[in-house]
Amino acid sequence: MGFPPNVVEKALLDCGRYCCNCHKFCSFKIETHHIVSPADGGDDSYDNCIPLCFDCHADVRAYDPKHPIGRSYKPSELKERRDRWYEKVKNGHALTTNPEYIEIDRKLFLVVKDALNEKGSMEFLRRHDFHGAFKLERLEGLYAFGSLSEKSECEFLDADMEGLRGRLYNDILKFLKAVGEHTFPVDNKPDLWNRIYDDPEDDDRFIAKYEKLSEEEFDAKAEKKREFISKVRNELNELSTQVWNTYDEFIRFGRRKLVV
Ligand SMILES: [Zn+2]
Repeated sequence: MGFPPNVVEKALLDCGRYCCNCHKFCSFKIETHHIVSPADGGDDSYDNCIPLCFDCHADVRAYDPKHPIGRSYKPSELKERRDRWYEKVKNGHALTTNPEYIEIDRKLFLVVKDALNEKGSMEFLRRHDFHGAFKLERLEGLYAFGSLSEKSECEFLDADMEGLRGRLYNDILKFLKAVGEHTFPVDNKPDLWNRIYDDPEDDDRFIAKYEKLSEEEFDAKAEKKREFISKVRNELNELSTQVWNTYDEFIRFGRRKLVV
């Protein structure tokens, strides 16, 4: 069983095709989720339906009560988040003309922009090629924005602004996750991070001595490693470009909408 088409249509209309959890604009990449799952007696009603982006949907579903890690989304919490968001989308047009609301968003816009630009993070992201080492502190703006985004005061009243903020938050999380997974401090220079394995050849030669690899086997292994490193560096560049592009859109849109 699934939600009937009229329920899906109304839910998508009411959320404006934004994820009700992270508020990112999803277009067609959106799914409807049962707040109380059918296995627990949840029905296919409008009240039991919440539109979510793919990432949030996976998060909500991934929680396993038998092996709890973190805290699950309670049905009441999901409903509350959804209803607040529906309300915001409904009032969207009223908001854009109410000077008091615009003023609140304008202030928040400047706070968010300042946080992102701590230590020149955004400029750094635009120019840096992640094939080279970098100082972790240059990413401080991203971390500052991340902790700001977790507070409810950091929610724009305007639905479009909030949607862009949500998208930027997602892009930044993806980038920081890749940085955390793949980069390590450079030997003897703990403030400088890099790069995956600094010198794959030396590293492999060391291993080869113990594994007694033939020259061909060693070459094949080194080549594989070079490919991996280059793949990861390209991935970091792509993710950082994505962050910059969304940031650029956020700034341009904010300036037009809030006249800052
Ligand atoms: Zn989401």
